[in-house]
Amino acid sequence: MSKIYDVIILGGGPAGLAAGLYCGRYRLDTLIIEKGKDGGQIAITNEIENYPGQMVEGESGPSLIARMSEQVKKFGAERITDVIKSVELEGDVKKLVGGQGEYLAKCVIVATGAFPRPIGCENEGRFVGKGISFCATCDANFFEDFEVYVVGGGDSAVEEAMYLTKFARKVTIIHRRDELRAAKSIQEKAFQNPKLNFLWDTVVESVDSTDGEDGLLNTMVVKNTKTGELTTINADEDDGLFGLFGFIGLLPKSELFRGVLDMDERGYLLTDANMHTNIPGVFAAGDVRDKAFRQVVTAAADGAIAANQAEHYISNLH
Ligand code: NAP
Repeated sequence: MSKIYDVIILGGGPAGLAAGLYCGRYRLDTLIIEKGKDGGQIAITNEIENYPGQMVEGESGPSLIARMSEQVKKFGAERITDVIKSVELEGDVKKLVGGQGEYLAKCVIVATGAFPRPIGCENEGRFVGKGISFCATCDANFFEDFEVYVVGGGDSAVEEAMYLTKFARKVTIIHRRDELRAAKSIQEKAFQNPKLNFLWDTVVESVDSTDGEDGLLNTMVVKNTKTGELTTINADEDDGLFGLFGFIGLLPKSELFRGVLDMDERGYLLTDANMHTNIPGVFAAGDVRDKAFRQVVTAAADGAIAANQAEHYISNLH
């Protein structure tokens, strides 16, 4: 019979790691299951400026998350890498079934996060990794001195576009409206950046390559959302390619819980203010949860609250 943990935390982003830290400090027997690298969304974020107390010059998502992971280790949470394929969450003992085994716990904290929303244009799938990317930190250097387009108008699009100006010759933000959604402080920096251009009221309709089936992205059709006018954008002839980065928001990683946990129509898990889902002993924290403001600090706060509630729940089981 498998060991029964006090708490299993699913996900090693800021929410999961904060929950792990707090559970460890509550002396709960804790297992964190992560399917890949720690960090979630911030593992692919180039710069973190607004985490309280973060004053390290040039702090990146990966460097912040590395310190969080180290801190969790200090307080004793066990770690395992596995992909959970099914869950049984009703009752006093919850079961998670992964590729490498079954895991049991009295409580589960779901901190599976979110992933980038696809751009939604024709042929998109064919060009992911061949011109289309959702991670500037990972792929910016492939576009050293090339032209790059960024779709979106929120914090991510504008911040990542500014990062891309350090590599690309020219960066153009394609936004579906004529006003950015990004925070004013971020906008101010963006409008001062001479390498940053804006294509307002525009969406990408389709992407393609003039070099055939295996070619790299070098042409796209964009549409003016006000006039409906279609325009073809081609790569500079000397370049032969351009980059297209998508930052148009997030989708929750909650598929595993469909039909099990209550979620909204987009798949965000519904919780109360104390991170309780509809099943006793099951909590959700961070970007996977339905909430108004997705930040590292709010994810970490969710994780701390979920751990605190898990501790209360377990104390009341005895
Ligand atoms: P977001 O704030 O949801 O912004 C998404 C952007 O993409 C919006 O400008 C939206 O346009 C556009 N968009 C959405 N669907 C689209 C579609 N189908 N076609 C074209 N454009 C589309 O997403 P985000 O920037 O990824 O940020 C996610 C969360 O992380 C937010 O809460 C954000 O504040 C937070 N974040 C914070 C920081 C920071 O504080 N430094 C950095 C990154 C992210 P509309 O404006 O027209 O809706």
